[in-house]
Amino acid sequence: MGLKVWLNGDLVDREDAKISVFDHGVLYGDGVFEGIRSYGGKVFRLQAHVRRLYDSALGIRLTIPISQEEIAKAITDTLQANSLRDSYIRVVVTRGAGTLGLDPNRCLEPNVFIITDKISLYPDELYENGLDIITAATMRNHPNALNPRLKSLNYLNNILAKIEAIDAGTLEAVMLNHLGYVAECTGDNLFIVRDGAVFTPPIAAGILEGITRNEIIGIAREQGLEVREENITRQDLYVADECFLTGTAAEVVPVVRIDKRPIGTGRPGPVTKQLAEAFRRLTRG
Ligand code: PMP
Repeated sequence: MGLKVWLNGDLVDREDAKISVFDHGVLYGDGVFEGIRSYGGKVFRLQAHVRRLYDSALGIRLTIPISQEEIAKAITDTLQANSLRDSYIRVVVTRGAGTLGLDPNRCLEPNVFIITDKISLYPDELYENGLDIITAATMRNHPNALNPRLKSLNYLNNILAKIEAIDAGTLEAVMLNHLGYVAECTGDNLFIVRDGAVFTPPIAAGILEGITRNEIIGIAREQGLEVREENITRQDLYVADECFLTGTAAEVVPVVRIDKRPIGTGRPGPVTKQLAEAFRRLTRG
């Protein structure tokens, strides 16, 4: 049986999951999305993801035509229809088909679709040895332009930084904000550890409020670690004892080099390992 995609209320074959070329999601990146994961058939933090989707939609003045409960049910129905247990789930709401002009009021009806698929992970080797990343010259969107808290379909900002990472032979890039402070990576939030305390940029630095980020903050505090949401500079990165990234797909991944400089010992650190392990227990437990 082929993959079924949920599209505007129906489960259709992947070949039939199509939307118009006049959709403003395609023409302008006008829409919002979520990346969610299921473990053992159970969707991780479903409510939090659905809420963020609706918050993103509110931010771009897009009314999602179904309720939060309905979309949550559609997500679990799609998973079940595809008999997937450990999967990556993409939920997308576009502005819908309209005219060639920008005016969103001329779009008829938003398109809502849900894709569930096998998760593609970073290789195990990267969790053991850590990631090599760079700081990108492309700065993170100014919060008063397109607030990074909105998970919009317009990911060009991150894609430009991702290209820089790839050009430098790495997989990720740290993006700085308009003030020069660390914001986040192209698809993950960033943490550092120094003298046993855990630091991560505040939401006000212009970042996506990652659901994994929030879990890790909670776990670290439960373990008695000091966690501070503070502005971080590049110099803070270079003198950190440890650094790691968090995200739905990546979970917790150690970073061992930034801009070719070793971080701490140049090996994944003990706090990173402890938090990664605790997160694994939470998701697989
Ligand atoms: N920042 C950006 C820009 C992202 O795209 C993501 C992935 N959704 C994250 C951070 C991590 O967020 P989460 O933990 O909710 O997946």
